[in-house]
Amino acid sequence: MLRELGHELVPLEAVRETILSLLEPAGVEELPLAEAFGRVLREDVTARENLPPFDNSAMDGFAVRVGDIEAATDEKPVTLRVQGGISAGDRGDVHLSPGSAIRIMTGAPVPPGAEAIVPHELTRFEQDQVSFFRPAGRGQNIRLAGGDLRPGDIPLRSGTWLRGPQLAIAASLGYGQLRVTRRIRVAILSPGNELVDVGAPAGRGKIRNSNAYSLLGLLLEAGAEPINLGILPDGREEILEAVERALGLGADAILSTGGVSAGDFDFVQAVVREAARPGHVFKVAMRPGKPQVFGLFDGKPLFGLPGNPAASIVSFEVFVRPALRKMKGESQVLPVPFGVRFPFQYLYKPGRVFLLRARVEPDEHQQAEPSPGGLKGRLRGGFRVVLPGGQDSSFLSSLADANALITLPANRDRVEVDEVHPAIWLGGHGS
Ligand code: AMP
Ligand code: MG
Repeated sequence: MLRELGHELVPLEAVRETILSLLEPAGVEELPLAEAFGRVLREDVTARENLPPFDNSAMDGFAVRVGDIEAATDEKPVTLRVQGGISAGDRGDVHLSPGSAIRIMTGAPVPPGAEAIVPHELTRFEQDQVSFFRPAGRGQNIRLAGGDLRPGDIPLRSGTWLRGPQLAIAASLGYGQLRVTRRIRVAILSPGNELVDVGAPAGRGKIRNSNAYSLLGLLLEAGAEPINLGILPDGREEILEAVERALGLGADAILSTGGVSAGDFDFVQAVVREAARPGHVFKVAMRPGKPQVFGLFDGKPLFGLPGNPAASIVSFEVFVRPALRKMKGESQVLPVPFGVRFPFQYLYKPGRVFLLRARVEPDEHQQAEPSPGGLKGRLRGGFRVVLPGGQDSSFLSSLADANALITLPANRDRVEVDEVHPAIWLGGHGS
């Protein structure tokens, strides 16, 4: 079964929607917390207890009753007897007697009877006596039990990408194991009679297989397990056989590059037309990356990406990364765009959405805008494009330090100075 959306160009969003609609989240496994890093959570993490678990001190200082020091001034300090000390880790259940203070450390439980913590720096402490020079407010420097999370709160939802802070939340709530999506295996096929591997001599007419390495890196960054099946000759049988080998190795998805145009040797397109259920051959209204092939083999997706090195990387960002996110069960599947300012005029080829690979940097122009609040003010600015390199779809060099893909409209041929256009990060958000 083949669905070809006519001969006209299809918007990339429609292609992506078609692909995503054919994919399901992969299975789940339970992992110890330390091994869950980088995975996608597949359960809600619910607080079963208060966080912090008990009222505790936010400062090193003295626990007091507010009334005992309400008359304190610089001229007439109030001096209290020091009843004892509580360190972090102590039970801290000794009752604070009226007219006394208890020395207390940050994180230590607030003793019953105490109403405020006065920081050490605001007192004078001598042997078993401590003097106060101003009153304290009720609750001052006390971190209340449940101030961060209360039982029933859900700080982590299914679909969350787990990094350090998320693991810390799980740890603080006593979750030693988490249900996460199992690692996704992705086979890489490199069909092309012209291809040689990096170690082999590259004679005239030969091209080194670079795509396998870009995909390897992109997959590792995305938390997938790549299986590099190497170079294949251009041939129907060879490609079908490699797809079967990939499925036999437990691949959840297959990426191939090249062979997707209508040339005499474009067998990936031919194989998907004949054997994928369903199979799609797209002409996408984007540059680079017009030819795209997608099909399911035994329910597993094959992405036939274009062979040109830059086109294959751009296609990975536009189609494969969101697909992997969906397969990993992430709640955020589509890239989240941000605005980038062009400090110069930029000319490009019209007719298809132009995905400009470029370096973007913090925009001093916008950062210089006066705004109160120092650091906050400076962080308000957006990004600006640094002069991009050559954008031919076969050029890799402009990707050396590119960190963004900027979307330029198909119905224009230039960007004027100071226009802002949407961009996505190259390399996703790491997931
Ligand atoms: P194709 O669509 O197969 O004609 O490939 C388009 C262009 O991409 C050709 O110039 C190929 O040599 C190049 N290409 C295809 N596969 C790779 C690869 N694995 N690594 C580097 N370049 C490739
Ligand atoms: Mg080829």
